[in-house]
Amino acid sequence: MITDVFCKIISGELKSEAVYKDNDFWVVKDINPNAPIHLLIIPVKHFLKIEDFRGDDGLLGKALLLADKIGHEVAGDKGYRLVINEGEYGGKLVPHFHIHLLSGKRLGPKLIKD
Ligand code: AMP
Repeated sequence: MITDVFCKIISGELKSEAVYKDNDFWVVKDINPNAPIHLLIIPVKHFLKIEDFRGDDGLLGKALLLADKIGHEVAGDKGYRLVINEGEYGGKLVPHFHIHLLSGKRLGPKLIKD
């Protein structure tokens, strides 16, 4: 059984601050924000990584389009950054695919915190 933190959020076992939900995705506020706006686009279905979308790649496109829509809603024309972490060097902590949406201030070129 898959019991990562995002599956627990989606099952209702853990509380979260969701700003958007549909049958395919939840968008929640990151519990430890790295920017004034820090949201996570999380697929309801458990995908570990991008490769897992093979055969369901329409969903990956939907995730990006949703991130863009929410990005415009929360930041207007000021812009946003999308980040996908993968593996140890990518700094991935939660083993459930997600896209970080960051905005609310001008973000520097540094993507990984020391
Ligand atoms: P990553 O390093 O890409 O796996 O990022 C995982 C993100 O999930 C981190 O930015 C965490 O702060 C965030 N996170 C972990 N647990 C929760 C939670 N219960 N609710 C919201 N965000 C969380």
